[in-house]
Amino acid sequence: MAGHMTPEEFRRYGKQVIDWIADYHESIESRPVMSQAKPGDLLAALPERPPEKGEGFDGLLADLERDVMPGITHWQHPSFFGYFPANSTGPSILGDLLSAGLGVQGMMWATSPAATELETRVADWMADLLGLPAAFRGNGVIQDSASSACLVALLSALNKAGGGTPGRDGIDRRYTLYISSQTHSSLEKAARVAGVGANNVRVVDVDPDTLAMDPAHLDALLTSDAASGATPAMVCATVGTTSTTAIDSVPAIGEVCRKHGVWLHVDAAYAGVAAVCPEFRWINDGLAEYAASYSTNPHKWLLTNFDCTLLWMADRAPMLDALSILPEYLRNQASTSGEVIDYRDWQIPLGRRFRALKLWSVIRWYGAEGLRDHIRSGSGLADELAEMIGADPRFEVRADHPFGLVCFRPLWEGLDTEAANDATLAAMHRLNASGDLLLSHTKIGGHVLLRIAIGAPQTGRAHIQAAWTRILEETTS
Ligand SMILES: *Cc1c(COP(=O)(O)O)cnc(C)c1O
Repeated sequence: MAGHMTPEEFRRYGKQVIDWIADYHESIESRPVMSQAKPGDLLAALPERPPEKGEGFDGLLADLERDVMPGITHWQHPSFFGYFPANSTGPSILGDLLSAGLGVQGMMWATSPAATELETRVADWMADLLGLPAAFRGNGVIQDSASSACLVALLSALNKAGGGTPGRDGIDRRYTLYISSQTHSSLEKAARVAGVGANNVRVVDVDPDTLAMDPAHLDALLTSDAASGATPAMVCATVGTTSTTAIDSVPAIGEVCRKHGVWLHVDAAYAGVAAVCPEFRWINDGLAEYAASYSTNPHKWLLTNFDCTLLWMADRAPMLDALSILPEYLRNQASTSGEVIDYRDWQIPLGRRFRALKLWSVIRWYGAEGLRDHIRSGSGLADELAEMIGADPRFEVRADHPFGLVCFRPLWEGLDTEAANDATLAAMHRLNASGDLLLSHTKIGGHVLLRIAIGAPQTGRAHIQAAWTRILEETTS
């Protein structure tokens, strides 16, 4: 038996791993952005059976480099512009390593008081950094993902709408959830998971230009659903949609929610962190007056590696009522005293990682100033790129690009819409296959648009310029 890794061995291999990560980040530009792997490549390279005798750590990094790395798409590459950024930075990685090193379960205050209290304080720091409403203070929690955050919000909203029964006694009547065609798919998934049912998800119209949810149509749907005996449970407004970063009007939608007494969840998974900058604080409009719950992801654009989603509640009582369970084996004096927070009641699983450490490390390293610089760098480069694309008559760029995402399309003179869409997708595939950069796409009004999401810590003007040059090569020559 190889036995457990000794502290001396851990020290030696740990230094190798840190060196490996540092080298990786330092030389990341020498790798093709998108993995060129074919299905089954890694499976064919891996032994079919696990080792009977321990092999130690010596060969692991070499195997990682030889077998695994070809199957990695480099999300931290400065020319990775797909989807949304998934920032990973030195202070964040080290904070997460400390969390693994401590190996605590922070499900209750009693199982590691500091895990709870650091999270409470860091969530308050974030509320402060983003200029969020006072009611959110003390009511923030770190979730693994925005998808979990919206499920927790929905369960809380159901609890409120159903007078405390839906979770405990089964779904007792027909509840409805309101989204738009631009809402993230995790909301429909939440409706399925929560037992609301996909058929009770109402899709509110959007403005064809801005893609913002239409408050008048929401009002009409709420009225007719209530009249037909349904119980409207929750409306989800999005600040910065996944497809194009469109923005629903929280004040206008909030006013409709208030009129009908319905829970408003605001999903700002990608864009919410931009409010670290005063010039982006307008994205919080209406939160103080109308939002029952709000979430944003430091694990996208705010320099913190996955997983780290912040969820805030204006009033946590419905959530606690929906999710608190106290089995005998978890009973303890601190919990019954009511003086402490037990975050297991603020999420779906019982166990929880000490995620606050990495966010604490990131905020302390960068300070508010460093966080602002990062957001401004990404949004500034997006403005420059949109201007370059907009100045070229062979392209059409979406007018709204408030954050780090630019959506545009080559006009392909002489091609009809379908042929133009095919040509755009083919150009994207050529670009991605070249390894020089990575783009993703979306479809709006029948047109395929290319998406360039800027926000990796190492991305600079030269990378944007190079990306534009490559796009021109693949679309105009
Ligand atoms: C990315 C995204 C999500 C999902 O985020 P996860 O943390 O991956 O679950 C939800 N909503 C919006 C608007 C997003 O952009």
